[in-house]
Amino acid sequence: QITVGVLALQGGVIEHISLLQKAAAQLSQSPADSSTAPTPQFNFIQVRNAAQLSQCDALIIPGGESTTMAIVAQRLGLLDPLREFVKVQHKPTWGTCAGLVMLASEASATKQGGQELIGGLDVKVLRNRYGTQIQSFVGDLKLPFLEEEKPFRGVFIRAPVVEEIITNPGSATQKEDDEIAKLKEKSRTEKVEVLGTYPKPQAQGTGTTTQDGGGEGGEDIVAVRQGNVFGTSFHPELTDDVRIHVWWLKQVVEGLKKA
Ligand code: GLN
Repeated sequence: QITVGVLALQGGVIEHISLLQKAAAQLSQSPADSSTAPTPQFNFIQVRNAAQLSQCDALIIPGGESTTMAIVAQRLGLLDPLREFVKVQHKPTWGTCAGLVMLASEASATKQGGQELIGGLDVKVLRNRYGTQIQSFVGDLKLPFLEEEKPFRGVFIRAPVVEEIITNPGSATQKEDDEIAKLKEKSRTEKVEVLGTYPKPQAQGTGTTTQDGGGEGGEDIVAVRQGNVFGTSFHPELTDDVRIHVWWLKQVVEGLKKA
């Protein structure tokens, strides 16, 4: 049995659990490799403390508001256990929207003084890339990793994008324990992969005046993976499309086999 947690301090927790359950049901109906291993059983739990986190084989950090999430995590003494989970134990972790911000090693457009992050993805994110709540939108995404033509409905709500992939993480300003940083350096060999992009909005009318992000050919980076760490700018859990949850659960199973 594989225990998958959803960090339940704030944000879209129930939505993820409900889509995870649908994805697990789908996986058990159509096992990818029916000849060999049986489809694993999944157990989905909400994570509010270190004891619950330690039961998890994998974790989702939902959307919401990353400053709030970081403050609550810090008050509960969960920041270091989360950093350990992602960067030392290398357990599969997926962050959506605010969760992607939490998993970045740097975030721009944060309030003065910055905010605590978990890290795990050697990227710099730009928060609220598309503007405020009323500039939320739904856009069709082509996600090659889904290996299907059918576009994915990307729900973008005060969404961040990856504006920079940090190729020399040692030089980044990281607010993390020296010890964790060292462990991370030793064990980290994977590079950041761009798994999804979305056309950049026109400069006018988007409410954003910041410089353009790091995507190629006028595209914003909205999905990345580095080893076991996955992040999306948008909210698959606010759709009824289970494809990314199914894909991620398969990744979790693969990742655990390798570990
Ligand atoms: N803008 C939010 C943040 O920076 C994220 C919004 C979301 O998760 N929908 O935390």
